[in-house]
Amino acid sequence: MSADCIFCKIVAGQIPSRKVYEDDDMLAFHDINPVAPVHFMIIPKKHVDSLSHVTGEHVEVLGKMLAKAGALATEQGSPEGFRTIVNTGRIGRQDVYHLHVHIIGGPHPLPRMISKE
Ligand code: 5GP
Ligand code: ZN
Repeated sequence: MSADCIFCKIVAGQIPSRKVYEDDDMLAFHDINPVAPVHFMIIPKKHVDSLSHVTGEHVEVLGKMLAKAGALATEQGSPEGFRTIVNTGRIGRQDVYHLHVHIIGGPHPLPRMISKE
């Protein structure tokens, strides 16, 4: 657990969340500020700052997280696909520095991936 990390506090149950799935290695919970009808995040329980900080020791949990994404998206109401986003660092506009995979979907197709500003 990393002190002052809100997602570590969610893992520890110190901050409430609407859980989607949990096992020994990962937790999935709804985003507090959803951008689509289906919007939850999958996180490793063990703190790692971002995708830039991932090393070999994280390979297994990252694989498990991605392997769960499709089934959870279907369960949550997005069976025909979804978008995964991992915002990373300053350039990726990451706000919470505990690695998380956004799963975003819903009954209707999403906007195109990114606008060329
Ligand atoms: P980022 O920009 O780092 O990829 O996304 C962080 C996400 O975490 C945002 O979509 C934000 O709405 C969500 N978030 C921030 N604080 C909390 C919280 O306390 N609970 C939950 N469920 N989501 C949060
Ligand atoms: Zn953390």
